[in-house]
Amino acid sequence: MNEYPVRKNEQLEVTICDLTHEGLGVAKVAHYPLFIENALPGEQVTAQVLKVGKNFGYAKVLTRQTTSPDRVPMHDQALLRTGIAPLQHMTYGAQLLFKQSQVQNVLKKIGGLSDIPVLPTLGMAQPQGYRNKAQIPVRMLNGQLEVGFYRKNSHQLVPIEDFYIQDPAIDRALLVIRELLRRFQIVPYDEQNHTGSLRHLMIRRGYYSHEMMIVFVTKTKKLHAKTELVQAIVQALPETVSILQSYQPEKTNVILGKHITVLYGKAFIEDQLLGKTYRISAPSFYQVNTLQTEALYQIALAFANVGQQDCIIDAYCGIGTIGLSFAQRVKHVYGVDIVPEAIEDAKKNAQRNHITNTTWVADQAEQAMAKWQQDGLKPKVILVDPPRKGLTPSFIQAALKMAPEQIIYISCNPATLARDLKLFTQDAPYRVEKVQPVDLFPQTFHVETVCLLTRTEK
Ligand code: SAH
Repeated sequence: MNEYPVRKNEQLEVTICDLTHEGLGVAKVAHYPLFIENALPGEQVTAQVLKVGKNFGYAKVLTRQTTSPDRVPMHDQALLRTGIAPLQHMTYGAQLLFKQSQVQNVLKKIGGLSDIPVLPTLGMAQPQGYRNKAQIPVRMLNGQLEVGFYRKNSHQLVPIEDFYIQDPAIDRALLVIRELLRRFQIVPYDEQNHTGSLRHLMIRRGYYSHEMMIVFVTKTKKLHAKTELVQAIVQALPETVSILQSYQPEKTNVILGKHITVLYGKAFIEDQLLGKTYRISAPSFYQVNTLQTEALYQIALAFANVGQQDCIIDAYCGIGTIGLSFAQRVKHVYGVDIVPEAIEDAKKNAQRNHITNTTWVADQAEQAMAKWQQDGLKPKVILVDPPRKGLTPSFIQAALKMAPEQIIYISCNPATLARDLKLFTQDAPYRVEKVQPVDLFPQTFHVETVCLLTRTEK
């Protein structure tokens, strides 16, 4: 019954006809799709089949006969192998078009929303070196401590020095820290045997403030040569304002453990967004691309029809950045996030910016929504910015009962956005007005979208 049109290791001449949502080239052999890394639509390649699955297979390019006009030279092969920059071989213009059509296709396929125009993706002038945060595994390779990133679909470390999409100051700091870790003979974590000590380095650097936070994530309670290490880092990296240790003894992919202790300075960094100052703690979410986050919030601010009489809800608020960007325009802001540290940050951030018309709740968004709705809260606008899994039906039910004039949905996953838009628009009185993709993650296939929904009934 093993009737596939291709065999493992077979070499074939194919033409790339499409891209998957992860940016892999697609070639069809008698309707059977082969997914091929580093291959662009229109290109003719000789490919070798790597894997034959039930519905599709994988192949790799051996030689390329024609070159797409959308191709640019790659920065580094390792960035493809690790998945750090899976679109690095595409021109930036082609990346932006890819993301726009991605949103359009998903809205149609999953949401059944075919007549909604998706605006051109808003890109950035310099689409490299934008990440203000790094989470880097530390491992022993051939007897030497290395930092880098996992090979795609594995936990095998590929050593990397130039991360390309990260703030270059973070890359430089990583090299300094790597040398110190080697000098002080810190033992990296061994994932297979669940032994050793240092698992990850997390670094955050304020885009405007240049304040730097360094977090050592350790399997052990003890961090060897802690005092000397901290002293040497502060000396070598004067931007450092916070050094933390996060104890993570579990066998898990969750990077930060629950216990975080301060080894040096404060437990947070500060940075600015749209002119306001924010403190950001280690466990709090903070958008990784500061400039594009400002662009994203500007769009939300422009979409919103609000004035001094109106209340708004900022659901999935993180450290309160969206709500606080709106606070001066409205009567009151209600925010909710599930991470208590983020809500602590949001409260402090309101004070820090002399804003008094806000309420912040640490809870599940759906719980807080249900409660606000029962209390009779009538927000003019509900802003939502959920994680990849999107909203829950109970959240949407509570939002519909509050009957806001507008819902502004910020999404990092077009598939769940499309699914949720369907619930807001079918058998419910909302219309999708505008869909604006914003490129928060250049060189990757991730797409951020701001979507404006308006109520069609009074
Ligand atoms: N709006 C913020 C954060 C968006 S990220 C910003 O622009 O920076 C999504 C946020 O949702 C995270 O802060 C995460 O902690 C929070 N979150 C995840 N699941 C949640 C839930 N069930 N209820 C409330 N918040 C949740």
